[in-house]
Amino acid sequence: MNIVEPTYNWNGPLTDRAETLYVVWHHTACEDQMQTPAAINAEHKAIGDIGIAYNRGIMQNGETFQGRPDAAISAAAHGVNQTSIDIVVEGNFMVQYLTAAAEEAIKANYANLTEKYPGAKHISHGYVHIVSGNPGDATACCGTNLMAFLKELIPGFEA
Ligand SMILES: [Zn+2]
Repeated sequence: MNIVEPTYNWNGPLTDRAETLYVVWHHTACEDQMQTPAAINAEHKAIGDIGIAYNRGIMQNGETFQGRPDAAISAAAHGVNQTSIDIVVEGNFMVQYLTAAAEEAIKANYANLTEKYPGAKHISHGYVHIVSGNPGDATACCGTNLMAFLKELIPGFEA
């Protein structure tokens, strides 16, 4: 599959995960559709991250971009960052619905990630607090409409 590789200036060293137990799905929670990779990177740097917290992003036009390298520890899902690869989809899926192009891109990423990390469990960010046991990790991410799509697509998906 085609993944766009933006250039990022990291604010420090990235570290590779020892194991990949989870694929965690997110939404940007923004309705303005202006969440470019550069904008997300700048936003996350502004809150003290090394850079963009996700490993991959999917735009509403169907484009997939690389955030941190797939192998790098993410900063997007407190509680499982050490053992998860994190995928974000552009939009606020509490109110918006996926475009057809985004749906196709999600399917392509799912197939690719299943091949690359066959044992990993796919979960929403909102399920992380169940895994971590920390109620403080609870969130509505990745939005009910995206969760519904992922539940249909992915056997065993936990929202
Ligand atoms: Zn999230």
